[in-house]
Amino acid sequence: MMSSSQQVRLRNRANVLHALRRRPGLSKIALARQLRISPATVGSIIAGLTEEGLVVSIGAGPSTGGRPAEHLELNRAGPVAVGVDLGQTMVRIGILNLAGKLLAQRSVPFQRHHNEVDLAAIVTQVEEMVGTFPHGTICGIGVAVPGLLDLERGMVRYAANLGWRNLMLRDAFAQVFGQPIVMIRNTNAALLAEDWWGNVVTRDPSIFVTLGSGIGAALRVDRHFIQGAAAVAGELGHIPIDPSGMRCSCGQRGCLEAMASGRAVQERYNRLRSRRMAVPNAAPLSLSEILQQAMEGEELARTVLEEAAYYLGIGLTILTNLLNPAVIVLGGELMEASDLLLRPIVQYIHTHALSDAAAAVTVVASTFRSDAALIGAASLVFDELFQGRIPVGEEVTAMT
Ligand SMILES: [Zn+2]
Repeated sequence: MMSSSQQVRLRNRANVLHALRRRPGLSKIALARQLRISPATVGSIIAGLTEEGLVVSIGAGPSTGGRPAEHLELNRAGPVAVGVDLGQTMVRIGILNLAGKLLAQRSVPFQRHHNEVDLAAIVTQVEEMVGTFPHGTICGIGVAVPGLLDLERGMVRYAANLGWRNLMLRDAFAQVFGQPIVMIRNTNAALLAEDWWGNVVTRDPSIFVTLGSGIGAALRVDRHFIQGAAAVAGELGHIPIDPSGMRCSCGQRGCLEAMASGRAVQERYNRLRSRRMAVPNAAPLSLSEILQQAMEGEELARTVLEEAAYYLGIGLTILTNLLNPAVIVLGGELMEASDLLLRPIVQYIHTHALSDAAAAVTVVASTFRSDAALIGAASLVFDELFQGRIPVGEEVTAMT
């Protein structure tokens, strides 16, 4: 059992780390003032954190009388965390430092076969990536999953887009890596990334909406993610928008995801295009090509995106009235065309949501775009480190 003084010290240590993450360059005096703890306590915590390699001095600033104040920041050459973002078509792996910068990353196509085969291949990819990382201390691996998780057992209960059910993900990683493995739902990870390192001030309640192949939302109230009674909360993509609309992967009709996701945009564009061209088997364009076309002003691509924005406006208006959020951050591949999407969505919310709710909400594009979940998954490892729940880690030497 931890004594209460140890608990207080651990909490102070975490607060110091978070304060330096938010505002690199603070001095000990500024930390003491901001956190309302004694300069002596801050001094002793900083000494410990310096010893651990988590905090470094970045020189002295102008003196305010007496000794010049020493500026501190999290050690950008210190421990790193591995983030893994399991997407429907792509697995992204990255290495994040304590300044919130991705030092290395790679994407590999996700081959969908069967649970174990997929997972073993992904673990191997992560192993390779870690092996090529020249030096540093890896303190853990964070995995972002587009699905329902059983965090206690480290299990993916169901991930429709990956075709996974009841998969012991944490164990599969733990068999290969000595470091702690943490898991998080991908949209929650994306919101965490914005909150920790993004340009967006994520005030409460905040929402992150991923507009990718599917559509999902992270809902955070009182700084806690809403999971729901069956861990299904945030399934914005399956809100029925048009009962006579397109068939959805969930079996219903007219879900937001079936009308306005990246996949929906791609399918609709290619269908209309081949009809217009009177060439039934014209080679379909990828989503990214379609978004590019729209940005360049191609009429059909613009029309299809306008329709998507209209349905997204409806979906987000429902969210705005239901949760009265302060911030909605929009991310995912579709936001590559954020210049075309953001304005009509915001306009729809402002003309259709209850006026007080519309006035309170700021809708913005994600700072990290398609890297958000990756950065968030790795940040979760740092969160564990800051809370003192995992050790700083072991030196990793390059494998030859
Ligand atoms: Zn659905």
